[in-house]
Amino acid sequence: MTDCIFCRIATGDIPAQIILEADSWVAFHDLNAQAPQHALVIPRRHIATLDAATEDDRALLGELMLAGAAVARHLGCAETGYRTVMNCNADGGQSVYHIHLHVLGGRRLAWPPG
Ligand code: AMP
Repeated sequence: MTDCIFCRIATGDIPAQIILEADSWVAFHDLNAQAPQHALVIPRRHIATLDAATEDDRALLGELMLAGAAVARHLGCAETGYRTVMNCNADGGQSVYHIHLHVLGGRRLAWPPG
């Protein structure tokens, strides 16, 4: 989708601080980091929300989770710990409607989230 900011990051039309990438996903630093390490993992294919994902996306969603773990190891916060979050729709706090896995680490994270 040409009007989707994360699709445009995936194609390289919009610059981002890329951390790791693969055929089906891209990981980059969040512009507005909420922790010392805050990365986003996005699929290259546009899926608007987790609620819009289907059985066809099963493998891709698994890849995103494993990518999140790889990103945490790459950023050096895997052993101390980190959190993966995928916000869905308005009450979930989603602001960009192209699914993305947040990977947050580098500090002790509070629970429950606000
Ligand atoms: P969410 O609120 O779960 O939809 O998360 C969207 C995230 O995308 C926020 O944490 C934003 O800071 C981040 N974000 C938005 N635009 C960009 C961008 N161009 N590059 C990096 N991160 C972005």
